[in-house]
Amino acid sequence: MRPSEPPTLDGAGGLLTIDLGAIAANWALLRDRLSPGAICGAVVKADAYGLGLAPVSDTLWNAGCRHFFVALAEEGMALRAALPEAEICVFNGVDAASAPCLREAGLIPVLNHPGQLADWRAAAAEAGEVLPAALHVDTGMTRLGFDRPDITALAADPAALDGIRLTMVMSHLACAETPDHPLNADQLALFQSVRKSLAPLGPMRASLANSAGIFLGPDFHFDLARPGAALFGIVPAGIQPTPVAQVIRLQGKILQCRRIDTPRTVGYGATHQAAAGRRIATVAVGYADGYLRALSGAAHAHVGDVSVPVVGRVSMDLLTLDVTDVPERQAMPGALVDLIGPRHSADDLAREAGTIGYEILTALGTRFARAYVGGHR
Ligand SMILES: *Cc1c(COP(=O)(O)O)cnc(C)c1O
Repeated sequence: MRPSEPPTLDGAGGLLTIDLGAIAANWALLRDRLSPGAICGAVVKADAYGLGLAPVSDTLWNAGCRHFFVALAEEGMALRAALPEAEICVFNGVDAASAPCLREAGLIPVLNHPGQLADWRAAAAEAGEVLPAALHVDTGMTRLGFDRPDITALAADPAALDGIRLTMVMSHLACAETPDHPLNADQLALFQSVRKSLAPLGPMRASLANSAGIFLGPDFHFDLARPGAALFGIVPAGIQPTPVAQVIRLQGKILQCRRIDTPRTVGYGATHQAAAGRRIATVAVGYADGYLRALSGAAHAHVGDVSVPVVGRVSMDLLTLDVTDVPERQAMPGALVDLIGPRHSADDLAREAGTIGYEILTALGTRFARAYVGGHR
């Protein structure tokens, strides 16, 4: 994960290094976990969880991935520009306004309720084409998806699907990260029964598992898995030791370092009292960069092997570390400290903030210098 050339930070306050080789390896690892015959797709919504849609999707395509998922039509169009031949499903589906764009870009909307089905049917009629679609059934998430009675009605009235070719039926697990949760088995049973009732409509793929769902075992794999987080090094809490490789390293640049002579407070709100003899380093990364304010007084960074605490409040562009335990020459202005790195994963940082690794990744701002390593480009 070390860049081959020394990174140029230019004026940035930090460096985000993204290991494309690790993403490719994680995809292959998940693919190899699936039951024979099941396909491994990839979820690259939200700019590939904040890591960059184009380089990440390109990497996954080269690794062999052909089935991609995004949340928004706009994300689907950006992905289409990067991958002309990929199958791209749009989770949030379609409405009358977005239907022409979806059709022209060859995107597959996930139909989440009968209104979306009607909009897509109208688009098919208008274009005089048969259009592909995926069907989302709600099995316990109560967020998006057809309810059971909608499915029964649909199976009884195939004309509702005029001009539409269903490629897939999918559902989403609410508690996959908690293997013992009874909702997993309930959702699985309901999904299986929905599949049966759709059988008269002809063959279509079934898809249930996100990253954590893959680790629930083969019953959950069906025809196509939809991992996102695990590709990017984020793992379900229950899966230890983690089988996936870390993907990112986030380094912040020290701007100033001082030794405390007389006890004094640090930062907004004077929440931290620094004793005489402590050394405080100020790093050019703050909550505007996605280093969450909730990490104030709660997180750790690393200088080399040494763990150093974040002290005082995280401010918009800066955070402060107590670097007393670090040799002085390693904590000088210009030195880089690991905010996320080999000794402190995005999941570790998330625990310190009281959140999940997903939020840490997608919050990472645009002010960092970025280095992509390990890609075959
Ligand atoms: C985001 C998302 C996924 C991917 O979930 P991960 O936990 O990141 O693997 C899969 N399916 C749906 C419907 C999603 O919204």
